[in-house]
Amino acid sequence: MAAYVEVAAFLPVRGTYCYSVPADLAAARVGARVLVPFGPRGVTGVIVREGGAAPAGVAVRAVRDLLDDTPAFDPELVELCLWVAEYYEAPPGEVLRAALPAGTAQSYAQRPRVTPLGEATLRGEGPAIPAALRRALAAVAAGKRARVAPLVEAGLVALEAERSRPRVAARTVATVRLLREPDAAEVARAPRRAAVVEALRGGPMDMPALAARVPGAAGAVRALAAAGIVERGRRETQRAVWPATVAPTQPLQPTPQQAAALAEIAGADGFAPFLLHGVTGSGKTEVYLQAIARVIAAGKGAIVLVPEIALTPQLAARFRARFGDLCAVLHSGLSDGERYDQWRRLRAGEARIALGARSAVFAPVAPLGIIVVDEEHDPSFKQEEGVRYHARDVALMRARRAGAACVLGSATPSLETCENARAGRFRLLELPARATARPLPEVEVVDLRTFQPDPETLLSAPLARALAESLAAGDQAILFLNRRGFATFVVCVGCGHAFRCAHCSVSLTYHRAGERLRCHYCGHSEHVPISCPKCHAPETIRRFGLGTERVEAALGARFPGARVARLDRDTAEGKGLRDLLDRFARREIDVLVGTQMVTKGHDFPGVTLVGVLLADTALSLPDFRSAERTFQLLTQVAGRAGRGDRAGRVLIQTYAPEHPAVRCARTHDYHAFFAAESAARAELGYPPHGRLIALRIDGSVEHEVHMTAHDVAAAAARLPGGVTVLGPAEAPLRRLMGRTRWRVWVKGAERGALRAAARRLVEAVEPRGDVRVSVDVDPISAL
Ligand code: ADP
Ligand code: ZN
Repeated sequence: MAAYVEVAAFLPVRGTYCYSVPADLAAARVGARVLVPFGPRGVTGVIVREGGAAPAGVAVRAVRDLLDDTPAFDPELVELCLWVAEYYEAPPGEVLRAALPAGTAQSYAQRPRVTPLGEATLRGEGPAIPAALRRALAAVAAGKRARVAPLVEAGLVALEAERSRPRVAARTVATVRLLREPDAAEVARAPRRAAVVEALRGGPMDMPALAARVPGAAGAVRALAAAGIVERGRRETQRAVWPATVAPTQPLQPTPQQAAALAEIAGADGFAPFLLHGVTGSGKTEVYLQAIARVIAAGKGAIVLVPEIALTPQLAARFRARFGDLCAVLHSGLSDGERYDQWRRLRAGEARIALGARSAVFAPVAPLGIIVVDEEHDPSFKQEEGVRYHARDVALMRARRAGAACVLGSATPSLETCENARAGRFRLLELPARATARPLPEVEVVDLRTFQPDPETLLSAPLARALAESLAAGDQAILFLNRRGFATFVVCVGCGHAFRCAHCSVSLTYHRAGERLRCHYCGHSEHVPISCPKCHAPETIRRFGLGTERVEAALGARFPGARVARLDRDTAEGKGLRDLLDRFARREIDVLVGTQMVTKGHDFPGVTLVGVLLADTALSLPDFRSAERTFQLLTQVAGRAGRGDRAGRVLIQTYAPEHPAVRCARTHDYHAFFAAESAARAELGYPPHGRLIALRIDGSVEHEVHMTAHDVAAAAARLPGGVTVLGPAEAPLRRLMGRTRWRVWVKGAERGALRAAARRLVEAVEPRGDVRVSVDVDPISAL
């Protein structure tokens, strides 16, 4: 029994706190959730350490309640979360909270209860008290609000902790079982009762199943229960997230490259990080599946991280088809209840493969044999608010601690990962060719300075011709444009007034659906006015810049016979996404126009043409990773072409045909791109050749933000050498959701010095209004 425990409370506070453990809660163990008093409140926390002595000279408060009989976390996972908190400069309790399924935290409020003395006073039998106090006491007794502090002082009222119920809990279903055979007389003229008894002879049943078998079973069961013939109960069930049955698949015969990769992964002993660099369609997924099958056979479990899993239902279906119920999915497309059930199946060991987005890196899988990070270069692995962790890097640390393999897969690895492989820290496994006989698609670059794009469809003559040919052949096409909406810039041509978001420093986008102007950052939307709000001139409002919505409409007009559909955040809401992908797979759509959602790992054999309408959209972003991002997007979208029997063709339209990102995507030459980009970064000390920490300063009052930035700048001037401070400067997205934003980048070669510098900058900040300074270790977003 531990007399004292360290608890990380689910609050944005640094550090952990010591509490004493009352004798009746002696079962409290590391990883268990507890309710603890914190200031005037009660909060949920997790025990991160047992034992030890009470800190001298400090009053230690007691744990109020133990929430888990079986700890929610294994000790290994607690340690991982503490590491994440330390590395990302985040509060440990917030990390632990993020690692649990949403909605399961409990808190408690202090509820006033009238004491026996108070009761007596109310009956007029207690001590005489002032009238105001008496009124307050009566209010508390009636469940109304009152100032309770003086009542507590006087011993008339005590504060009791009352637990709030967690938002999600296990779902249960009514069950029935047969207790005894009825006498003939008991069911003689009751055919329904007889039918229920007959059904239950095979064993206990769930009420819904019984009701399906015996119409009107509910009434019969009530009568039988009253007669003591059956017993009713409840049983925990799980919310279904998969279709009930899926045709199982068998492992494919590996290609020689796949076999070599599998042998290396299987041969690893203890922690082993791998980069599986395989071109699109090279069979990386099959390698994951077979590597995981071996891990499962050895009695261990697996975690598979995929970006935006809701976007790639095909991948989830492949895992499900191979592993059935051993597989659990965790992603934001599930309800809190569904996610909780999936988590519990993993925690109980019923499921041993966790497939999910970023936060699945914390899934309760033990013992862990392998972690796969598919499309490891994807920026969605970085959490951009709260605890700013990178799931790939946490995966590496988790695998190291668990002595597991960690396979990072991509056709376009991030520079960081590729550099790790080049330096020998990761073992490189290569799949240089597609798994089937089809070659990679032919990629042509269309110089938009020569071939001007049609103003409506954005198609240049070569791409329009290719699309017409593809349609004539009955094939499918994907057109990629990284801009949503109808028009991306709306302006009054009379006075030049541009329509911008009132809360963010960005242009509003015109959406024809609903006739609205929308902000793509905060969701704000407004009606399109008839006249200019500034100069009041009528009919001077013009729209410029094409988005996916406009292109979709224009294509429909230009190719009347073609079935055109659009995939972006506007059409992919809820069930829309599945419907759209299913219709495209059934070839009920000829041309799919979309944002980067179309570049993801889709496998549509009917697609022979991929067109990139404007490759330059990402290149112009103020981000040192913009070239890398562009190369990745171009390569990924190109990889959607020619996955069936017919060869694929890719046309990239651009104003910058000489850019390395475009040139190397054309020749499918990752290595050339890596060499050029890596050299450029080395010169500037950017990752992977240096480390970064970003400080993000934001607040609703502009001058308070400026003054905070000034604090940071002053502290930066006093820093010792070894680090470079860039900024403070206005963030490219200067205002977001009504908050002004500045940023500072701290750059350095050595992690310790960098971290110390970042801490000193944060400590130099005077508290001001609602200004926040957040630390972003290894930042990804440049906005
Ligand atoms: P990646 O994940 O690298 O994009 P996939 O695993 O999706 O590639 O494989 C691409 C296609 O090749 C799929 O249709 C898959 O069924 C097929 N494939 C993969 N491995 C093999 C194999 N060993 N033999 C035959 N077909 C394979
Ligand atoms: Zn906005």
